[in-house]
Amino acid sequence: GATIGILGGGQLGRMLSVAAARLGFTCHIFEPGIAPPAAQVANRLTTAAYDDTAALTAFARDCDVVTFEFENIPTEALDVIEAITPIRPGREALRISQDRLTEKNFLQELGLKVAPFADVPDAEALARAVRDIGIPSILKTRRFGYDGKGQVRLSSESDVATALDGLAGAPAVLEGFVEFSHEVSVIAARGPTGEVACFDPGENVHRDGILHSTTVPARLSASQRTDAVLIAAKILNALDYIGVLGVELFVTPQGLIVNEIAPRVHNSGHWTQNGCSIDQFEQHIRAVAGWPLGDGSRYADVVMENLIGADMDKVPHIAREKDASLHLYGKAETKAGRKMGHVNRITR
Ligand code: ATP
Ligand code: MG
Ligand code: MG
Repeated sequence: GATIGILGGGQLGRMLSVAAARLGFTCHIFEPGIAPPAAQVANRLTTAAYDDTAALTAFARDCDVVTFEFENIPTEALDVIEAITPIRPGREALRISQDRLTEKNFLQELGLKVAPFADVPDAEALARAVRDIGIPSILKTRRFGYDGKGQVRLSSESDVATALDGLAGAPAVLEGFVEFSHEVSVIAARGPTGEVACFDPGENVHRDGILHSTTVPARLSASQRTDAVLIAAKILNALDYIGVLGVELFVTPQGLIVNEIAPRVHNSGHWTQNGCSIDQFEQHIRAVAGWPLGDGSRYADVVMENLIGADMDKVPHIAREKDASLHLYGKAETKAGRKMGHVNRITR
């Protein structure tokens, strides 16, 4: 059978490996960190840094196709791999999603609604951006932000002076604060022949900038539901995308506003493991392996709850619950803010 390479050995790489194994593929994980969650389930593991050209070359030679579980892979590493074996989804999706400013411009050029935004390279630009966009607003680093890290909320004028210090001078964008009623996301897939399949949108609740829960069905009208899917398809087609993509949306009286995209399987798609016969992980593996996309229709109502840090103490209790499916990532050390697992509760 074919070998699928995965850059990144976190929980997403782990769950992708499980899905790949179920379809008979061999999985090879590339991960700089020691004993990553995916190592317990993958067939092969390369432990090396992303600037280790020899290791990258050997990894790429072993793989029929390479995919990834996170978007911040150094460009040079991708160049080495791509000279040997295909990377799916492609480089364009990575280039765009690695930088919030590039991503916002891309979405706006597609005709999609985004929060008002401005480039903030320095303090002078921040003053100008605050004048244009106003307060409340959020200053976000252009690169490397996740789980709400690298963000400073501006609630009053007095926050402006110290905002850039909070980001250690990293290039940033200022975003107007969107008064949304709730947040939803679409987990969408596109196959190599261009067919698109979307999972039912999920409704997301964040706590301290980290995803807390996803509920399906989301509170959306029929037309909002259609809109959400059309937005996702537009993005997939524009990127000539192969694989699964997450699209985060704000629901407002003015319509759906795109918050951000993630060119990979997404935390808010974990409910699909117990709500669909083909989950987001299998859908991604199918797409990158050149298989037809599967039927992602939803057969249950599900609430996915993340188990973060000390939430792990609840596991013995959850293990006794009816209709609760536990997914634990096998991380050695529990830390505050670290995603340790999740539970999918079937509610109907
Ligand atoms: P992720 O882990 O999803 O990649 P991230 O660090 O990239 O997170 P965002 O998705 O940009 O961060 O923001 C995290 C959360 O903060 C959003 O889901 C939303 O709840 C809130 N938020 C972000 N931007 C805005 C905005 N412009 N207006 C209102 N709320 C916002
Ligand atoms: Mg993000
Ligand atoms: Mg987000």
